[in-house]
Amino acid sequence: MQKMTLSEIQYIFETLFDAYGPQGWWPAYTPFEIAVGAILVQNTMWRNVKISIKNLEKIGLLEPYRMYVTSNEKLAAAIKPSGFPRLKAERLRNFLHFFSEFSFDFEEMNKYDTETLRKLLLKVNGIGKETADSLLLYIFKRPVFILDAYTKRFFSRLFSKEAMKTFEKEKIVNALKDAKEMGEFHALIVQHSKAHCRSKPICSGCPLRKVCEFGSELHE
Ligand code: SF4
Repeated sequence: MQKMTLSEIQYIFETLFDAYGPQGWWPAYTPFEIAVGAILVQNTMWRNVKISIKNLEKIGLLEPYRMYVTSNEKLAAAIKPSGFPRLKAERLRNFLHFFSEFSFDFEEMNKYDTETLRKLLLKVNGIGKETADSLLLYIFKRPVFILDAYTKRFFSRLFSKEAMKTFEKEKIVNALKDAKEMGEFHALIVQHSKAHCRSKPICSGCPLRKVCEFGSELHE
């Protein structure tokens, strides 16, 4: 693809949706579980996070106040499968401290506009841009685009270098209907990055190959 137009973005979304179907993200029962998952998934695979979440649930710590008052040791032991347990326990604690200022109520946080809330989240040690945007999108249903490693790789292959020079997240937000579609789009990109657009891409059979700059140059 030469340019990143609204209709091209819609085409990508629809093609991925037709190929993979609805992804049902974020896989969690409560907003707090989404927040915990978004912190634990940093630098690890989702399957490891799932084990940690199950551990937390088993010992009754998948509840903000109970997690807040538990010891670092107990928390670190439960989340060990996600890697970096002490660091991630610290990050969860930082988030919980921030959350306590809102009486552990996401509705209180939801009163802020997207930019203000993003700035507040980014002040929490351990919440970077990707995690903040995940929370904005999947907890607060704000239409933001998550620019993670999968997304960067996928778009840089799909579009020409020229188009990538003017990559604007806003364009993607404008091309899609609402936060629900944004959330679906992100999940579809992750799924596609696992199925086809891997670090070593499997372009054969890729549903986007005929429009992909990288894929169309290959002659397999
Ligand atoms: S054709 Fe290849 S590089 Fe392009 S999106 Fe598909 S898997 Fe990725």
